[in-house]
Amino acid sequence: MLKKTLANNTPIKQLGEFGLIDRLTKEIKLKHVGSVFGVGDDAAVIEAGNKYQLASTDLLVEGIHFNLAYTPLKHLGYKSVAVNVSDICAMNGVPKQIMIGIAMSNRFTVEAVDELYQGIRLACNHYDIDLVGGDTTSSTSGLMLSISILGEVEKDIITYRGGAKINDLVVCTGDLGAAYLGLQLLNRENMIFKDNPKIQPDLSGNDYVLKRQLKPEAGTKYIKILSDMNIVPTSMIDISDGLASEALHISKNSKIGITIHEDKIPIDYTVMNLAAEFNVSPITCALNGGEDYELLFTVDQKHYDKLKKDPDFTIIGFVNDIIDGNNFVAKDGSSHHLIAQGWDAFNQG
Ligand code: ADP
Ligand code: MG
Repeated sequence: MLKKTLANNTPIKQLGEFGLIDRLTKEIKLKHVGSVFGVGDDAAVIEAGNKYQLASTDLLVEGIHFNLAYTPLKHLGYKSVAVNVSDICAMNGVPKQIMIGIAMSNRFTVEAVDELYQGIRLACNHYDIDLVGGDTTSSTSGLMLSISILGEVEKDIITYRGGAKINDLVVCTGDLGAAYLGLQLLNRENMIFKDNPKIQPDLSGNDYVLKRQLKPEAGTKYIKILSDMNIVPTSMIDISDGLASEALHISKNSKIGITIHEDKIPIDYTVMNLAAEFNVSPITCALNGGEDYELLFTVDQKHYDKLKKDPDFTIIGFVNDIIDGNNFVAKDGSSHHLIAQGWDAFNQG
């Protein structure tokens, strides 16, 4: 039988993750006055009396987001909560409740799910969150975790992706690139082990990058420090897909350009060393690696002294007019277009 050629056969890969989200959501109009902000930021914003409620959801799929060959279930549980908390932090908010949807195939044991929940409970204690519900079902292919989180934020300090102003400072927290290298290391050792199970993984001396990949922390401590310093960023996003991708989100939403200086990007010395071993540039890991779950924000220049003094924060660039574009100034002073090659769920492998 002749197969009919399908007219509508655009591969999802062609649009990519963000293109697809844009296409699916561009017609959506918010009907309720309580729906203050919908799609397009790290969390949705809902009217809640004298505060705003924040809501966000994230899906973690085995084989796409994690590999159980080297991811301890306890760590996975912890991470799945932390990455959701990170989205609440990105709105300058405080996490309050989560709900957990879980689908698993019957190769999982009760003890395995217990372990996953140990990690979830640990994260709930650490971030002071109540687990208030969820859903449990089976799956034909592996483990899926869907976490929805609620948080809250005072109305006058809510921070969107879209508030950056020309001449603002561009700031990031912590250091970047470690989580990506942690993943590369785990993948490499896993491949070696698969080829020859007698060779034990050599992960020694790499505790920092492994922790950053397997058990990342959300930026609650930075939100607290900013609040104590009386600093309200003009825009903010969490760094889940790489610094470049997130800077471009702020640029697009704020209708400004961002210039980042290579020599200012904070990179841990262990990342420098391991990047050399993997023959990659540590800056590429920071720009395009992802999963660092640090915060990227813009802030008025009047806060320069306060931020400069605190090692939690690094001023990595400034906001410029949109007509001057998004730029990356290399160590040798040459300027390049800032482009994102960050993580995209539909462009893996
Ligand atoms: P983040 O990386 O901060 O979790 P995403 O990149 O996943 O954010 O999503 C960007 C925005 O698009 C968010 O506001 C999110 O709520 C929204 N979004 C993502 N997928 C969908 C979808 N399938 N339908 C509607 N909105 C979506
Ligand atoms: Mg986010």
